[in-house]
Amino acid sequence: MATLLTLQELRNRQSWSLEQKVDHALGAIEKMANENNNKLYVAFSGGRDSTVLLHIARMLYKEIPAVFVNTTNENALILKFVKKTENVTILNPKITFIDVLKNNGFPLFSKEVCKKINDILKGSNANTINHHYQKNSIGALSEKYHKIIASNIPLYSGCCKTLKKDPLQKYQRENKRGALVGTMASESLRREKSYLRTSCVNLKANRAMPISIFLEKDITNYIKKYNVEISEIYKEEKRTGCAYCAFGIQFDKNKFLRLKEREPKRYEIVMNTINTSSGLCYYDVLKRFKIPC
Ligand code: SF4
Repeated sequence: MATLLTLQELRNRQSWSLEQKVDHALGAIEKMANENNNKLYVAFSGGRDSTVLLHIARMLYKEIPAVFVNTTNENALILKFVKKTENVTILNPKITFIDVLKNNGFPLFSKEVCKKINDILKGSNANTINHHYQKNSIGALSEKYHKIIASNIPLYSGCCKTLKKDPLQKYQRENKRGALVGTMASESLRREKSYLRTSCVNLKANRAMPISIFLEKDITNYIKKYNVEISEIYKEEKRTGCAYCAFGIQFDKNKFLRLKEREPKRYEIVMNTINTSSGLCYYDVLKRFKIPC
């Protein structure tokens, strides 16, 4: 697919000073504001990155709304922080995370892994399946996940869409506002590729990612420089996201053990949730893949 920028251009931008990056972010926000008659919102997760984006956006537009989707799988300290942030609209998805576990399946390892395994299990088109199995091929299913295929465990790749994206898109449609999203190209290869395709402003999707070229250290430096208040959860956790999600668990293996200690009652409820089609509970599934819990 054609890209708007080269990887070298992205690397150059990522090497800019914090001040240059903030200027660049303000430029992207202004561009979006011009396209949207000054009607924008910040997709706010209560995490560090979107807190920084909200701070930058409110330098220009003090009244810009922050919009938070309560996935029902939020860390209690994130919810506490969101509730005390000014001018936040809280959206609720149609179903809960517990409903997803019961009726759809488990979000395990990554969206891509779940999707590829479901393609194989549902017998999607033969070319797709062959590609997923091809050794050393870009985009194939890594061999370490092949054992899940035979396990008969229902996986669900659409959880983010159901619990997060759909409520936000509905809000965007109904309120006719352009979205500011606090993602960074450095977070993953997928985000990097997406940035190269569209740069910071994706007018087609009516969405801008003004802090795309920031690095983790820029977020830390910005918080220090501007004395930005962030959630207390960062005293305990480096990164946040949905509390009981097992996407990315391979990079933070002890996450569930920390939750067990921090909130034992909720931990029991989530872990004992039984998926109706397989009869397996979340705890059984995690144990089967030797995920500490
Ligand atoms: S991060 Fe995980 S639990 Fe949260 S919405 Fe996405 S898949 Fe679901």
